[in-house]
Amino acid sequence: MRRRRNVKVLATLGPASASEEMIRALFEAGADAFRLNMSHGTHDDVRAMHARIRAVEADLGRPICILVDLQGPKLRVGKVAEGTVLEEGTSFRLELKHGPGDAAGAELPHKEIFQAIEAGASLLIDDGKIRLEVVEAGKDFADTKVMVGGPLSSNKGVNVPEVALPVPALSPKDRRDLDFAMTLDIDWIALSFVQRPDDVAEAKKIVAGRAAVMAKIEKPQALDYLDEIIEVADGLMVARGDLGVELPVEQVPGIQKAITRAARHAGKPVVVATQMLESMIEAPVPTRAEVSDVANAVFEGADAVMLSGESAAGAHPIEAVEMMDRVAQSVEADPQFRDAIDAGRTDPETTSADAITLAARQVAETLKAAAIVCYTASGSTGLRASRERPKVPILVLTPVVQTARRLALAWGVHCVETEDTTSFLDMVIRASRVAETEEFAKTGDRLVITAGVPFGTPGRTNILRIATVGTEARRPRA
Ligand code: PGA
Ligand code: MN
Repeated sequence: MRRRRNVKVLATLGPASASEEMIRALFEAGADAFRLNMSHGTHDDVRAMHARIRAVEADLGRPICILVDLQGPKLRVGKVAEGTVLEEGTSFRLELKHGPGDAAGAELPHKEIFQAIEAGASLLIDDGKIRLEVVEAGKDFADTKVMVGGPLSSNKGVNVPEVALPVPALSPKDRRDLDFAMTLDIDWIALSFVQRPDDVAEAKKIVAGRAAVMAKIEKPQALDYLDEIIEVADGLMVARGDLGVELPVEQVPGIQKAITRAARHAGKPVVVATQMLESMIEAPVPTRAEVSDVANAVFEGADAVMLSGESAAGAHPIEAVEMMDRVAQSVEADPQFRDAIDAGRTDPETTSADAITLAARQVAETLKAAAIVCYTASGSTGLRASRERPKVPILVLTPVVQTARRLALAWGVHCVETEDTTSFLDMVIRASRVAETEEFAKTGDRLVITAGVPFGTPGRTNILRIATVGTEARRPRA
C-alpha cells in the first residue's frame, strides 16, 4: 500500500478513534503515524490503543509509527467554584494553598511560578482567554490585576510567557508516563514545553535509544536555543497551540517557517501541529483558511502535518485524514511545489552518507529513476535521503522494524522491513523485488541504490549503484 504523497499525516487518537476499526480506517485513509496523548487517557487506555495499532500493523503488513506525547510541566489553577467570572480591573490573588477559588482568588499549586515571577509579569489562563498582571509576588502568593476577564473554571491551564520557569521538562507525572511508555514498543516520545537543550538531553538519557525523542517547541525560551535543541533532539514539533498563547499569535506563522527550515537543515523530522483542520471537529468540510494552512505546511516541506481534536474527539476523524491526504497530493502536484521545496534545501555535510545521498538524488533525477532505495539499519541514511527532498520516492529497506516505524514519519520515505543484504547481487535483486511489489517500479525502470560495504556493518553508507529492474536477476553470475 503506497501513499501518493511525500508529506506524512500524524493523527491523534482519542475517544472518537480508539477502536481497532477506526484505527484501521484512519490508516487506510492516510494516517501514517498515531499520537497517543498522555494529557488525556489513562495508562490502560494508552496500552489498549497501542495494542490495537500493532494489531492493524500486523494485519496490513505496513510499519506504523506510534508517538507518545508527554504532558510536560503543564501548570494549572486549582478548584474553582462554579459560575466564577473574573471582572476586568479587579484584584485577583493567587496562592500556593487556597480553598475553592472565586472571583477574588484561587489556588495555583506551583511554587516555581511564585519563585520566578515579579511585578509586571503576565499570567495567562485558559489558553490566554484570561490575562492577569502581577502587582506583587511573594514566595507563596501573587496579587494580580485582571487585565482581560472572563469565566474561570477548575484546573484551567496557566501560561507564564515571559518568564523562564525553573521547572524540569519532565514532571513527576511525565516520569511515570515515560516509564510506562517504555514498557510498550513505541517509536517517538514527544516532550512538551521544552525550554532548554538539557530538557531534551535528560529525556534522551532515560529513553536510551528505545524511541526517538521529539522536542515540542511551544515556549518562547526554546526559540532562544533552537539550534542547540535541534542538535540534541531527534525531531521537532511546531506546537502552535501553546506557542500562540505564549507569544503574540501573529508571530506563529513566521516561527513555524523558521523552525521548519532549521529542522530540515539538520535533517530531523518536523511536524506542524494544532488547529490545522479545527472546524472539522464539528463540520464535515474545513474552512478555506484551514485548507490553506495545511497546504502551506506542505509547501514549506514539513515532514508531517498533525491532527489533534479533529481525529481524537471530533465528529469526522476519517474525513479529516482524507482531507489532509487530498490537500497534500494536490499541493505536491502543483508546479510551484518544487520551487518552494528547493528553496529550503541546504548543502550536504561533509560525510560519506551525505555525499552519497546527494549523489543518489542527482542521479535518480537525471535518469528519471523510479525510486531511490536506501539500505539502512539505524535509519540515519534514510533520514539523510529524506533531507534531500528528492523528486523521486525513497524506499527505505531495513532489517530493524523500529527503524521502519520511526522513519514512517519522515518526508518522502516508504519503509519496508527486510533482511539485511549480503552481496551486490542480492542488494539489486532485493531492491528490485521490493520496488515492484510495493508498486514503485516495473520491469525496465531504473533504481538508484545506496548501501554500505562491507555489508552488514551499520553506519557506513559508501556505495551508489544504478540498477534496472528485471535485468540483474537474469544475468549469469560471474
Ligand atoms: P498539545 O501540544 O496538543 O499537547 O498541547 C500541541 C500544541 O500545543 O500545539
Ligand atoms: Mn501544547
